[in-house]
Amino acid sequence: MRVSGLWIDAAETQAVCAALTGAGAQALFVGGCVRNALLGAAVNDIDIATDARPETVARVCTAAGFRVVPTGIDHGTVTVVAKGVPHEVTTFRRDVETDGRRATVAFSSDVAEDAARRDFTMNALYAAPDGQVIDPLGGLPDLLARRLRFVGEPEQRIREDYLRILRFFRFHAWYGDPAQGIDADGLAACAVLAEGLETLSAERVGAEMRKLLAAPDPAPSVAAMAQTGILQRVLPGADPMALAPLVHLEAGIPPRWMRRLAVLGGDAVDDRWRLSRAESRDLALLLSAVREGGSPAVLGYRLKALADDAILARAALLGQPPLPGWQAEVARGAAAILPVRPADLMPQYQGADLGARLKAIEARWLQSDLRLDRAALLAP
Ligand code: ATP
Ligand code: MG
Repeated sequence: MRVSGLWIDAAETQAVCAALTGAGAQALFVGGCVRNALLGAAVNDIDIATDARPETVARVCTAAGFRVVPTGIDHGTVTVVAKGVPHEVTTFRRDVETDGRRATVAFSSDVAEDAARRDFTMNALYAAPDGQVIDPLGGLPDLLARRLRFVGEPEQRIREDYLRILRFFRFHAWYGDPAQGIDADGLAACAVLAEGLETLSAERVGAEMRKLLAAPDPAPSVAAMAQTGILQRVLPGADPMALAPLVHLEAGIPPRWMRRLAVLGGDAVDDRWRLSRAESRDLALLLSAVREGGSPAVLGYRLKALADDAILARAALLGQPPLPGWQAEVARGAAAILPVRPADLMPQYQGADLGARLKAIEARWLQSDLRLDRAALLAP
């Protein structure tokens, strides 16, 4: 089996591989790029595994004229930038010690050792520069059947790194077969070891959960998380009921993790998922619009890009689809400008009076669903 795609054929990517192989090292694509290429999904980033040590990678790639960034040289990763495209080159590794959060690794020259420390069989596939697939653990049949399975014994693999619980649900949502359901052994192990999630940092939990909720349909994974008590650990107070209806209503509208989060609810997400200030502000706006509702045009005017999310989330929670034509109404509101300007009210109104008068006019305008024109709004 061979992988193909513009990403692997790109001259700059082939040149990075050639720099390594020219120095007698192996250069194998690994992880997401191989998995996604085999599934016909978009390839976002390029990871290359090699038996060369990081210093050697840095030396030969610098000599070949690439910009080399020592992103994680201690654990073996060097970023090689070729024509602006980053290639993460990581030396084969094996785990020496794990504590549930981070691993002490040793470099290895054996691809089978490198494969054995990866999380899921579909993530442990490699490809040579010519696209030939290398499958040290027999993960290819799993991938082709869209079966997400741990490499090795699930409980042991989770004890090494509890983040793998969340990665299990994330990758199932993205690449699992919904008809087949989630892998029973993996799910049982996640349920038994769920307490270990408490040891993870808010940043790691938040990053993983954002990616899970951005999947085309995260509802089956989130339902499985709720059934095993895992959802309550990462998002206490969350209710998964409205998620599947939301995904159904979204048909054709690109997924957004925050819209999905808005229907799950949950307490203190800002801290638990370490939201940025901008994310916290958007989420608060979104949640208050979801609670209060409003016409699509008014929401569009007030919330701009967040209005679609508020309308869909509210519709999912109420179990009532939005009225036909709602998106055009949101667009009308988002583009609308209050037809009255301060200058229209001066000099009759000044200072605080002017502000209050403008506010009252805006309220009337909103009440008219943004339809009253300047003359009507200025009429006494
Ligand atoms: P994405 O498209 O989300 O980037 P990916 O497979 O590239 O998918 P990454 O999180 O970027 O996912 O990880 C790259 C690869 O590194 C994975 O495919 C997997 O082989 C390995 N990996 C990453 N995190 C872990 C982990 N916690 N435990 C074991 N292996 C991991
Ligand atoms: Mg990746």
